[in-house]
Amino acid sequence: MADTPKSDLHPATVAAHAGGAADAHTAGVVPGIHTATTFVRDENYDPVNPDNVYLRSHNENVRVAEDLLSKLEGAAETLLFPSGMAAVAAVFRTVPTGASVVVQSQIYWGTTAWIRDFCTRRGIALHEIDASDPISFEIACKVHKPALIWIETPSNPWLRITDVTGAARMAHDVGAKLVVDSTAATPVLSQPLALGADIVMHSATKGINGHSDVLAGSLSTAAPEDDIWKMIVDDRNQAGAVMGPMEAWLLTRGMRTLPLRMREMSRNALKIAEYLQDHPQVEAVLYPGLPDHPGHEIAKRQMTGGYGGLLSFVVKGGGPAALKAVGRLQLFLRATSLGGVESLVEHRHTIEPHTGIPEGLLRLSVGIEDAGDLIADLGQALGQ
Ligand SMILES: *Cc1c(COP(=O)(O)O)cnc(C)c1O
Repeated sequence: MADTPKSDLHPATVAAHAGGAADAHTAGVVPGIHTATTFVRDENYDPVNPDNVYLRSHNENVRVAEDLLSKLEGAAETLLFPSGMAAVAAVFRTVPTGASVVVQSQIYWGTTAWIRDFCTRRGIALHEIDASDPISFEIACKVHKPALIWIETPSNPWLRITDVTGAARMAHDVGAKLVVDSTAATPVLSQPLALGADIVMHSATKGINGHSDVLAGSLSTAAPEDDIWKMIVDDRNQAGAVMGPMEAWLLTRGMRTLPLRMREMSRNALKIAEYLQDHPQVEAVLYPGLPDHPGHEIAKRQMTGGYGGLLSFVVKGGGPAALKAVGRLQLFLRATSLGGVESLVEHRHTIEPHTGIPEGLLRLSVGIEDAGDLIADLGQALGQ
C-alpha cells in the first residue's frame, strides 16, 4: 500500500519516490507486479483483504499509479483507462441523450472524430467552437446551455491556449461541467483542477509515460462526490475499460522521471522554437513559450516550469517543401504521437487533409536529446 508523503513535497520528489510506493511485503524499493485476477475469501466468506475481490475493480499496480498521478495533479481521485480515447469515451458516456455539449474545435483529431460520431448516434447536440476565443466561448455557453464543455490546452497540433480559469467560470455560470484534456502539458506543467476544471483528462500514452511503450489514459477530479464522477467510476467498473497490471507498473516506472523529462523537453523545445523563428525557410512557429504567441500571457499564468515539448511550425513553400524537409531529417523520427524521450516529427496534413491544417505545417514532439544536435538536424533538413 502506498503511503501518503508529506503534502509539501515538490513533484520531482513525489515522482522519484513513486508516490511512496515501495513494496510493503518484500521491502523492495519498487512496487512488485501483481497479476492475480481473483482473491481469496476466508472461512466466514469475508474477503481476506477487503480491498481486493476481482481484478476488473481491484489491482495494486493500478492503485499505485493512480495514487501517484493524483498527487502530481493535485487531485482527490484518479482513474486509469487502457487508452486516452477510453478516458474520453468514459466522460461522454455520462451525457444524456438530448443534452448539448460544447467542444473546442481543431483539437486532437481522434477526439473530434469520435465525439462527432458518438453525438450523432446518441442524439446529443454538438457545438464546436474556438475555445481560445473567450467571446465565442461565453456565447456558446449562454446559447447552448451545455451539460459538458471539452477543451484541450495547449491544443494539438495548433498549440492554442485556453484560459482554464475563465472557461471554468463561464461553464459553471450555466451549470456545465468543464473537462480539460491536458495531455500536452502533463500534471507537471499545468494543474487544471486548481484553476477550476471539474475533470482533467490525459492521454498518458504521451508525456506521462514518456517512453512510447504504454497505451494509457486518465481522468482526475477534485470532487469525487460529483454525480458525473460517480457515473464514470461505475461505468469503468461495470463496462470494464481498465488497465492491466503490467501497463500500470510500467506507467509508474515512467512517471518517476516525469518532472525531469518535462523540464528537459520544455527547455529543448523553447531553444528549437527560437531557432526556427529566425530561420529564413520558416513562415511561422507555433509555441506558447514564444513571447509573440497569442496565448503566451495566459500560458505564462497557468503553466509552471515550461511550455512542453509540443511545437508546430510552417515551412515556406507549402506541402512539397515540408515533406522534403521531413524526408531529410535524421534524428527526428517520422512517426505520430508525442511526449516520448525521443523526438518525433509529423506532417499532419497527410494524416488529416480536410481539417484546415496548413500543408506546410510540421509538428514536432521534442524529446530529451541534446538541443544542439536537434537544431543541427533541423538546420540540415531545412537547407541552412
Ligand atoms: C493521443 C491523444 C489522445 C488519445 O489518446 P490515446 O492514448 O492515443 O488513446 C487524446 N488527446 C490528445 C491531446 C492526444 O494527444
